[in-house]
Amino acid sequence: MMKEALQMQNIATDIQTDSSEVGYAFDQSEFWRTIPAWRDVDAETFGDFRWQQQNSVTSVPAIQEALGELASPALIADIEAGLLKTPMNVRLTPYIFSRINWENVETDPVHRQFLPLGSQFIPDHPNAMDDSLDEDGHKATPFLTHRYPDKALFLPITLCPVYCSFCTRSRVVGGSTAVKSKSTYGAKTSEWDSTFEYIRRNPQLEDIVISGGDALLLRPNQILHIGKTLLEIPTVRRIRFATKGVAIMPMKFTSDTEWMDALSGVCQLGRARMKEVALHTHFNTDREITAWTAAAMKALSSTGVRVRNQSVLISGVNDSFGCLHRTTKKLSSQLIQPYYIYLHDMVPGCEHLRTTVHTAENLSRRLQGSVAGFNTPRVVCDAPGGGGKREISSYTLYDREIGVSAWTSPTAKPGEMFFYYDPIQCLPSGGSRLWLNKAEITKRLAKFKAEATAKAEATRV
Ligand code: SF4
Repeated sequence: MMKEALQMQNIATDIQTDSSEVGYAFDQSEFWRTIPAWRDVDAETFGDFRWQQQNSVTSVPAIQEALGELASPALIADIEAGLLKTPMNVRLTPYIFSRINWENVETDPVHRQFLPLGSQFIPDHPNAMDDSLDEDGHKATPFLTHRYPDKALFLPITLCPVYCSFCTRSRVVGGSTAVKSKSTYGAKTSEWDSTFEYIRRNPQLEDIVISGGDALLLRPNQILHIGKTLLEIPTVRRIRFATKGVAIMPMKFTSDTEWMDALSGVCQLGRARMKEVALHTHFNTDREITAWTAAAMKALSSTGVRVRNQSVLISGVNDSFGCLHRTTKKLSSQLIQPYYIYLHDMVPGCEHLRTTVHTAENLSRRLQGSVAGFNTPRVVCDAPGGGGKREISSYTLYDREIGVSAWTSPTAKPGEMFFYYDPIQCLPSGGSRLWLNKAEITKRLAKFKAEATAKAEATRV
């Protein structure tokens, strides 16, 4: 314990003095002390992952208790109203809770990702789907989705250290809410054998993503078990652990030595076998990046793990060039490769957070050339219905007025067509009016689909 305490003390000191961030305004202050309940919490305590877990905010009374005089009755009533409409429960680590600007919460980009405000909700798009990517339709085992020929998605857990309002797996992640009942599950090592066996029996599978839920909540022995078992399958070439941890609990990587030793052990095995071990994380804005991130990345770098970032494009959070550019630059400076920016999936309960293909295309154009090519994130649409990730400008046809785009997926689903629908509130007035007239919109969509099919036929390679 003494050794761990000293390590944490050193990390807290590092955070005050680290010079690797010169040129970027990383927050080195004790920002959590602006939260009334944590005014007296010192850096050593705040930097302990156990304290972060134990003090996570998971209910309205806990929000009130943490905020004290900062919690206005109107704000609390708005959150309570939001909880009656959202498929996601509330869970925030103290780290991310204190990155919210509580003085101006309505416009704060961090709050918008995690706290539902009743006043912000609007009706779902008529074509929203619980399982918008059709992950369940591609289940090869209870824990494995196999859609692409050489990649598979392993979901050993559906719990996370935070719950995001925009989660694409809101149908299973994070427990039931007032509007959604779910079968959330924890990690059970004894249940994974059939998944490993399936991967062994399918030698075309070279890439395995371990996601959920969040790999941060896997125990060290589970990280080792999954990592070793997969790396020992001769045909598996690359594995990736998906965790939002670096963005929402960076102190996990500096204070949980057992977990880091497990990750390090998996990385060593990967290196010995000439296989890649990566960690895919999830920052959406540069507000989430602080001196604690830099300390986490220093610790992660020493394991040899490759770290990439996947963002979701969220209206009112990061749908501006300035935000995406700043986030991209700062992530790159910390050896986090900006990898994907996803157009928001068409899942229920987050229509206010989605934006259009047109906006995403414009942002993609602006980003190109603004940073080094290898650090330029790919802006993609994960085609609803299981078409997989498609470059944002690679649609077959796009009708901006009624907000529908058509996509093909020659590798994952040859011969099929997929449709993404922009949020109705973002359409030109003529387009949103058409959606109010069922007969008219049905006719217009049928015409669009026929044109898209003909165009896809004519351009098939
Ligand atoms: S961390 Fe990932 S899986 Fe968990 S709630 Fe957020 S988006 Fe969903």
